[in-house]
Amino acid sequence: MAWFRKPRYTTVPAGQKKKDMPEGLWTKCDKCQAVTFNTELERNLSVCPKCGHHFRLDCWERIGTLVDPGAFHEIDGGLTSTDPLHFEADEKYADKLQAAREKTGLAEAVVSGEAAIGGVETVVAVMDFSFIGASMGSVVGEKIARAAERALQAHKPLVVVCASGGARMHEGILSLMQMAKTSSAVQRLGDAGVPFIIVVTHPTTGGVTASFASLADVIIAEPGAMLGFAGPRVINQTVREELPPGFQTAEFMRDHGMADMVVPRKDLRPTIARLLRMLTGAESADIEPSSAEREAGETANDRLETPTRTSARTGLTDRQTDSIITATSSDKSEGEGGPQGS
Ligand SMILES: [Zn+2]
Repeated sequence: MAWFRKPRYTTVPAGQKKKDMPEGLWTKCDKCQAVTFNTELERNLSVCPKCGHHFRLDCWERIGTLVDPGAFHEIDGGLTSTDPLHFEADEKYADKLQAAREKTGLAEAVVSGEAAIGGVETVVAVMDFSFIGASMGSVVGEKIARAAERALQAHKPLVVVCASGGARMHEGILSLMQMAKTSSAVQRLGDAGVPFIIVVTHPTTGGVTASFASLADVIIAEPGAMLGFAGPRVINQTVREELPPGFQTAEFMRDHGMADMVVPRKDLRPTIARLLRMLTGAESADIEPSSAEREAGETANDRLETPTRTSARTGLTDRQTDSIITATSSDKSEGEGGPQGS
């Protein structure tokens, strides 16, 4: 028996050390790589304070930043998807649904309800990308259509915050039918003169872009959000042309007439509130150009050269929608303490 023994140490591989670091204290920006404390990020509505990158919000965070505090009442919360085709690819659709429900705590990829925004009674629907890419299956389509029908019956404006990877192919043709259903539901809103506002968040693509998301009276997009049908790689391979810089970003889509305005998250709630008051007749739509706009002669000249898109249903020109954002940003009374994430 030996008197001395070499002590046995457990070796810790260098790569393992990171796991011991406390998680959830900070977040690294996907765009500029800056590290920000989560508390600061939350205060900034999940927008990177360094570069302005808009992080994704889940639907309850979104509702918290958008509607008046305590004003949201969920509707159709009990609707859940079934698996009518017994679809199975790399995993069963039924299992995928169950996993998504457990991961997000949501019944489906959209939450709808009645709320008030800036004091205007509104029907609101918010899609959540973390639930199977917020793809539009039968239940998502049904909830959007029902929200539109409720808005129509109550003659309240409809506001939908969308994000989607497109149609939910696990439901085959049933998912594609939702495009027609939601389109005709929002068309009835238009016929009745009930305002409909879309907020495009990153990314909004496929069957959602190709249906109700393109049919709103006012289409607002968050900075940098992708808005399109097919992705840039597919388009590039199809047309065999180099795509222009910034292709399919919110800013590109605004400049080419597919979106009315690009609004930073902090200005979203006051901008929508102001639009709702104008569209429901509570506030005049005749907005004078702001003093800043008058002083910036070059901006006005630039605008004259760019094509002006006028919303067919609201009659708002680009110039007026720009003025709404300018007026809202400088409207201190609109802040009401600022929207807070929940
Ligand atoms: Zn950043």
